[in-house]
Amino acid sequence: MIVTFLGTGTSQGIPIIGSTHPVCLSDDPKDKRLRVSVLISWDNYQFVIDCGPDFRQQMLSNHVDRIDGVLFTHEHADHTMGLDDIRPFFFRQGDIPIYAHKRVLEALKKRFDYIFASENKYPGAPSVIENEIINEPFALGNIDVIPINTFHNRLQVFGFRFKDFAYLTDVKTVEEKEKLKLKGVKVLVVNALRIEPHHSHFNLEEAIAFIEEIAPEKAYLTHISHMLGFHEEVEKQLPDHISIAYDNLKITI
Ligand SMILES: [Zn+2]
Repeated sequence: MIVTFLGTGTSQGIPIIGSTHPVCLSDDPKDKRLRVSVLISWDNYQFVIDCGPDFRQQMLSNHVDRIDGVLFTHEHADHTMGLDDIRPFFFRQGDIPIYAHKRVLEALKKRFDYIFASENKYPGAPSVIENEIINEPFALGNIDVIPINTFHNRLQVFGFRFKDFAYLTDVKTVEEKEKLKLKGVKVLVVNALRIEPHHSHFNLEEAIAFIEEIAPEKAYLTHISHMLGFHEEVEKQLPDHISIAYDNLKITI
Protein backbone atom coordinates (compact mmCIF):
# COMPACT_ATOMS: atom_id res chain seq x y z
CA MET A 1 0.00 0.00 0.00
CA ILE A 2 1.33 3.44 -0.90
CA VAL A 3 0.07 6.59 0.80
CA THR A 4 0.80 9.96 -0.80
CA PHE A 5 0.24 13.05 1.31
CA LEU A 6 -1.46 15.37 -1.16
CA GLY A 7 -1.87 18.16 1.39
CA THR A 8 -0.87 18.52 5.04
CA GLY A 9 -2.08 22.02 5.89
CA THR A 10 -4.92 23.35 7.98
CA SER A 11 -7.99 25.06 6.51
CA GLN A 12 -6.28 28.17 5.14
CA GLY A 13 -3.19 26.30 3.90
CA ILE A 14 0.36 27.56 4.38
CA PRO A 15 1.24 30.24 3.45
CA ILE A 16 -1.93 32.05 4.45
CA ILE A 17 -2.92 34.72 1.92
CA GLY A 18 -1.32 38.02 2.90
CA SER A 19 0.43 36.64 5.99
CA THR A 20 3.86 37.92 7.04
CA HIS A 21 4.30 35.21 9.68
CA PRO A 22 7.85 33.75 9.36
CA VAL A 23 6.52 30.24 8.64
CA CYS A 24 4.32 31.64 5.85
CA LEU A 25 7.39 33.38 4.41
CA SER A 26 9.63 30.27 4.72
CA ASP A 27 11.53 29.13 1.61
CA ASP A 28 11.50 25.51 2.79
CA PRO A 29 9.16 23.52 0.46
CA LYS A 30 8.17 21.46 3.54
CA ASP A 31 6.61 24.63 4.99
CA LYS A 32 4.25 24.94 2.01
CA ARG A 33 1.10 23.03 2.81
CA LEU A 34 -2.01 22.54 0.69
CA ARG A 35 -5.33 21.58 2.26
CA VAL A 36 -5.29 18.16 3.86
CA SER A 37 -5.81 15.03 1.73
CA VAL A 38 -4.16 11.68 1.00
CA LEU A 39 -4.08 9.32 -1.96
CA ILE A 40 -4.11 5.63 -1.00
CA SER A 41 -3.08 3.05 -3.59
CA TRP A 42 -2.90 -0.74 -3.42
CA ASP A 43 -3.07 -3.45 -6.10
CA ASN A 44 -4.92 -1.68 -8.90
CA TYR A 45 -6.95 0.56 -6.62
CA GLN A 46 -6.53 4.25 -5.94
CA PHE A 47 -8.72 6.27 -3.54
CA VAL A 48 -8.53 9.83 -2.27
CA ILE A 49 -9.51 10.85 1.26
CA ASP A 50 -11.11 14.31 1.16
CA CYS A 51 -11.35 16.60 -1.80
CA GLY A 52 -10.55 20.13 -0.72
CA PRO A 53 -10.00 23.35 -2.68
CA ASP A 54 -6.50 22.23 -3.78
CA PHE A 55 -7.69 18.94 -5.30
CA ARG A 56 -6.98 19.92 -8.92
CA GLN A 57 -3.45 21.04 -8.15
CA GLN A 58 -2.85 17.91 -6.06
CA MET A 59 -3.99 15.58 -8.87
CA LEU A 60 -1.77 17.43 -11.37
CA SER A 61 1.36 17.51 -9.25
CA ASN A 62 1.06 13.81 -8.44
CA HIS A 63 0.14 12.78 -12.03
CA VAL A 64 -3.03 11.02 -10.92
CA ASP A 65 -4.94 9.93 -14.03
CA ARG A 66 -7.60 7.70 -12.45
CA ILE A 67 -9.35 7.41 -9.09
CA ASP A 68 -11.65 4.68 -7.84
CA GLY A 69 -13.45 7.01 -5.46
CA VAL A 70 -13.36 9.72 -2.83
CA LEU A 71 -13.86 9.14 0.91
CA PHE A 72 -14.91 12.09 3.04
CA THR A 73 -13.97 12.53 6.69
CA HIS A 74 -16.51 15.36 7.20
CA GLU A 75 -18.14 18.26 5.38
CA HIS A 76 -15.93 21.24 6.26
CA ALA A 77 -14.94 23.34 3.26
CA ASP A 78 -11.23 22.51 3.43
CA HIS A 79 -12.20 18.82 2.92
CA THR A 80 -14.91 19.13 0.27
CA MET A 81 -14.69 22.22 -1.93
CA GLY A 82 -12.75 20.57 -4.77
CA LEU A 83 -15.52 18.11 -5.64
CA ASP A 84 -16.29 19.79 -8.98
CA ASP A 85 -12.75 18.98 -10.10
CA ILE A 86 -13.52 15.26 -10.29
CA ARG A 87 -14.80 16.19 -13.79
CA PRO A 88 -11.76 14.92 -15.74
CA PHE A 89 -12.06 11.56 -13.94
CA PHE A 90 -15.84 11.51 -14.59
CA PHE A 91 -15.36 12.22 -18.31
CA ARG A 92 -12.92 9.32 -18.63
CA GLN A 93 -14.34 6.84 -16.16
CA GLY A 94 -18.04 7.62 -15.68
CA ASP A 95 -19.80 8.22 -12.35
CA ILE A 96 -17.30 8.54 -9.51
CA PRO A 97 -18.07 6.69 -6.25
CA ILE A 98 -18.07 8.84 -3.12
CA TYR A 99 -18.19 7.53 0.46
CA ALA A 100 -19.39 9.63 3.38
CA HIS A 101 -21.59 9.85 6.45
CA LYS A 102 -25.26 10.53 5.58
CA ARG A 103 -24.97 14.06 7.03
CA VAL A 104 -21.96 14.77 4.81
CA LEU A 105 -23.78 13.47 1.70
CA GLU A 106 -26.64 15.86 2.53
CA ALA A 107 -24.22 18.79 2.91
CA LEU A 108 -22.60 17.94 -0.46
CA LYS A 109 -26.05 17.86 -2.09
CA LYS A 110 -26.74 21.40 -0.87
CA ARG A 111 -23.39 22.79 -1.97
CA PHE A 112 -23.12 20.90 -5.24
CA ASP A 113 -26.81 20.53 -6.09
CA TYR A 114 -26.03 20.40 -9.84
CA ILE A 115 -23.80 17.32 -9.35
CA PHE A 116 -26.67 15.45 -7.70
CA ALA A 117 -29.44 16.79 -10.03
CA SER A 118 -31.55 14.06 -11.59
CA GLU A 119 -33.51 16.32 -13.99
CA ASN A 120 -32.26 18.82 -16.56
CA LYS A 121 -28.70 18.10 -15.57
CA TYR A 122 -26.20 20.48 -17.13
CA PRO A 123 -24.12 18.57 -19.67
CA GLY A 124 -20.58 18.61 -18.36
CA ALA A 125 -21.50 18.44 -14.69
CA PRO A 126 -19.96 15.38 -13.06
CA SER A 127 -22.00 12.56 -11.53
CA VAL A 128 -21.26 10.53 -8.45
CA ILE A 129 -22.34 7.22 -6.95
CA GLU A 130 -23.31 7.81 -3.34
CA ASN A 131 -22.13 5.35 -0.70
CA GLU A 132 -23.27 6.08 2.83
CA ILE A 133 -20.78 5.17 5.53
CA ILE A 134 -22.23 3.98 8.80
CA ASN A 135 -19.87 3.13 11.62
CA GLU A 136 -19.27 -0.40 10.31
CA PRO A 137 -16.52 -1.87 8.08
CA PHE A 138 -17.22 -1.49 4.36
CA ALA A 139 -15.72 -3.00 1.22
CA LEU A 140 -13.44 -0.79 -0.80
CA GLY A 141 -11.78 -2.44 -3.79
CA ASN A 142 -10.63 -5.82 -2.49
CA ILE A 143 -10.26 -4.85 1.19
CA ASP A 144 -12.49 -3.88 4.10
CA VAL A 145 -12.05 -0.37 5.47
CA ILE A 146 -12.85 0.24 9.15
CA PRO A 147 -14.34 3.66 9.95
CA ILE A 148 -13.23 5.21 13.24
CA ASN A 149 -15.78 7.55 14.78
CA THR A 150 -14.14 10.67 16.24
CA PHE A 151 -15.14 14.18 17.27
CA HIS A 152 -14.01 17.59 16.01
CA ASN A 153 -15.34 19.59 18.95
CA ARG A 154 -18.97 18.34 18.70
CA LEU A 155 -18.94 17.45 15.02
CA GLN A 156 -18.70 13.76 14.15
CA VAL A 157 -15.75 12.98 11.83
CA PHE A 158 -14.73 9.63 10.34
CA GLY A 159 -11.17 8.39 10.41
CA PHE A 160 -10.35 5.29 8.37
CA ARG A 161 -8.28 2.16 8.90
CA PHE A 162 -6.97 0.37 5.80
CA LYS A 163 -5.37 -2.85 7.10
CA ASP A 164 -2.16 -1.72 8.91
CA PHE A 165 -2.62 1.96 8.08
CA ALA A 166 -4.99 4.45 9.75
CA TYR A 167 -5.71 8.06 8.86
CA LEU A 168 -7.35 10.45 11.32
CA THR A 169 -7.72 14.16 10.80
CA ASP A 170 -9.67 16.99 12.45
CA VAL A 171 -9.84 15.00 15.67
CA LYS A 172 -10.15 16.36 19.19
CA THR A 173 -11.65 13.38 21.02
CA VAL A 174 -11.99 9.65 20.41
CA GLU A 175 -14.12 7.33 22.54
CA GLU A 176 -12.35 4.33 24.10
CA LYS A 177 -14.32 1.79 22.03
CA GLU A 178 -13.25 3.54 18.83
CA LYS A 179 -9.59 3.57 19.91
CA LEU A 180 -9.77 -0.24 20.12
CA LYS A 181 -10.25 -0.32 16.33
CA LEU A 182 -6.76 1.16 15.97
CA LYS A 183 -5.10 -1.65 17.93
CA GLY A 184 -2.08 -3.10 16.12
CA VAL A 185 -1.98 -0.46 13.40
CA LYS A 186 1.57 -0.09 12.02
CA VAL A 187 1.34 3.41 10.58
CA LEU A 188 -0.94 6.07 12.04
CA VAL A 189 -1.60 9.57 10.73
CA VAL A 190 -3.16 12.11 13.12
CA ASN A 191 -3.76 15.83 13.09
CA ALA A 192 -1.57 18.18 15.14
CA LEU A 193 -2.66 21.75 14.51
CA ARG A 194 -0.27 23.84 16.59
CA ILE A 195 1.46 24.11 19.98
CA GLU A 196 -1.37 25.95 21.76
CA PRO A 197 -4.57 24.05 22.59
CA HIS A 198 -7.52 24.38 20.17
CA HIS A 199 -11.23 23.67 20.69
CA SER A 200 -11.59 21.20 17.82
CA HIS A 201 -8.12 19.85 16.96
CA PHE A 202 -5.37 17.96 18.75
CA ASN A 203 -2.47 20.26 19.51
CA LEU A 204 1.04 18.78 19.32
CA GLU A 205 0.99 17.52 22.92
CA GLU A 206 -2.41 15.84 22.51
CA ALA A 207 -1.39 14.28 19.20
CA ILE A 208 1.76 12.81 20.77
CA ALA A 209 -0.20 11.50 23.78
CA PHE A 210 -2.71 9.86 21.41
CA ILE A 211 0.10 8.27 19.38
CA GLU A 212 1.72 6.91 22.55
CA GLU A 213 -1.59 5.40 23.58
CA ILE A 214 -2.21 3.69 20.22
CA ALA A 215 1.50 2.76 19.93
CA PRO A 216 1.94 2.34 16.15
CA GLU A 217 5.41 1.57 14.77
CA LYS A 218 5.40 4.93 13.02
CA ALA A 219 3.19 8.02 13.14
CA TYR A 220 2.86 11.10 10.94
CA LEU A 221 1.34 14.45 11.86
CA THR A 222 -0.90 16.37 9.46
CA HIS A 223 -3.46 19.25 9.23
CA ILE A 224 -0.76 21.63 10.34
CA SER A 225 -1.05 25.36 10.96
CA HIS A 226 1.75 27.88 10.52
CA MET A 227 1.49 28.23 14.29
CA LEU A 228 3.09 24.79 14.80
CA GLY A 229 6.39 26.35 13.67
CA PHE A 230 8.98 25.58 10.99
CA HIS A 231 8.88 21.97 9.75
CA GLU A 232 12.60 21.45 10.24
CA GLU A 233 12.70 22.82 13.79
CA VAL A 234 9.65 20.96 15.09
CA GLU A 235 10.69 17.70 13.37
CA LYS A 236 14.01 17.76 15.27
CA GLN A 237 12.20 17.85 18.61
CA LEU A 238 10.07 14.79 17.90
CA PRO A 239 10.94 11.20 18.83
CA ASP A 240 12.17 9.00 15.94
CA HIS A 241 8.87 7.18 15.50
CA ILE A 242 6.93 10.43 14.94
CA SER A 243 7.43 12.63 11.88
CA ILE A 244 5.67 15.62 10.48
CA ALA A 245 4.14 14.79 7.11
CA TYR A 246 4.74 17.20 4.25
CA ASP A 247 3.11 17.68 0.86
CA ASN A 248 3.93 15.00 -1.72
CA LEU A 249 5.57 12.68 0.87
CA LYS A 250 5.01 9.05 -0.18
CA ILE A 251 5.14 6.21 2.30
CA THR A 252 4.91 2.46 1.71
CA ILE A 253 3.12 0.28 4.22
ZN1 LIG B 1 -9.97 20.50 8.33
